[in-house]
Amino acid sequence: MTDSLIDALQAKHLRDLKPYESARRLFSGGQDWLNANESPFVGEYNLDSRKLNRYPDCQPKAVIQAYAAYAGVTPEQVLVSRGADEGIELLIRAFCDAGQDSILICPPTYGMYAISAETFNVKVNKAPLNADFSLNLDAMAEFVGKVKVVFICSPNNPTGTQVAPEQIEQALALFAGSALVAVDEAYIEFAQGQGWAGQLANYPNLVVLRTLSKAFGLAGIRCGFTLASPAIIQVLLKAIAPYPLAEPVAQIAAQALSPQGLAWMQEKVEVLNVLRQRLQDQLQPLGDFVRVGDCQANFILLRSQYKQGLMDDLVAQGILIRDQSKQLGLENCLRISIGTEEQNQRLVAAMQRFF
Ligand code: PMP
Repeated sequence: MTDSLIDALQAKHLRDLKPYESARRLFSGGQDWLNANESPFVGEYNLDSRKLNRYPDCQPKAVIQAYAAYAGVTPEQVLVSRGADEGIELLIRAFCDAGQDSILICPPTYGMYAISAETFNVKVNKAPLNADFSLNLDAMAEFVGKVKVVFICSPNNPTGTQVAPEQIEQALALFAGSALVAVDEAYIEFAQGQGWAGQLANYPNLVVLRTLSKAFGLAGIRCGFTLASPAIIQVLLKAIAPYPLAEPVAQIAAQALSPQGLAWMQEKVEVLNVLRQRLQDQLQPLGDFVRVGDCQANFILLRSQYKQGLMDDLVAQGILIRDQSKQLGLENCLRISIGTEEQNQRLVAAMQRFF
């Protein structure tokens, strides 16, 4: 088969898309990966290999029950998936008709909502955030009746800001009769406040997305959770692949959600929140850049007119951070994940040399 035939055979909506590419591929030699909001800490886990000859449970009970208890919901309100990314994809695949329906996003925000929609031939509508990163509810109201799923990220990646509870309530009310409102809480453990899981019974169109990739330090196992009414979970279960979680992933997730695992996570969150504050305090006097937004997550966002030079300079010193300047309203912005104390100090020293 020739390449041009493959081109002609591929689904039309994929023709203009590119395969996902991680910046890591261009940066194999570096030591400080501060570009993907991972935890710099990793716990210890045991693997029982005796079950590896069997297919795993579709929804491993131990993991579902432990997460339900942790999030304060019932097991019927929990779906576990291959990262929160699969939860995002499932919401789109299960609730949008390809080639017909739309979702609503509020940029600047996490990129996978749009990518997932595009790969499934679902249209992406945008209601950009206000300059202070609050929701623009008037702009959102324009889309009532025209979208099936609304994605709100809080704390938002890449601004780190939380959406005020009144605003999320208003969004839930706006779309009550017509769309799901998915509140992505990937970074909730780093933020003040409880998040929205406890409100599921009050809002039938509310969905909450969570992950073990950030506070739990388990980006490598790909494990995320969708919390919603049992009716919504039942629809998602129709669309999910039969075995989303490999057996080792389920075992590690259950250990991470045990009382010891939760205590480890909470301790690391406290450490990272202190390190974030320290990093902000140290960077502030360096000048020539400003911190953007009140970051309630394991990263900070900076704006600098010297953005490109700074990125290149840091990469040359083995430090990878994330350029966010292509995002709506984030010209010249760079996002830096909080690393270990040593990593943060290397970053501060490198920035001091640069400015
Ligand atoms: N939501 C947000 C806001 C994120 O930043 C990320 C990861 N960068 C995810 C979801 C995806 O999480 P997971 O690793 O569980 O797929």
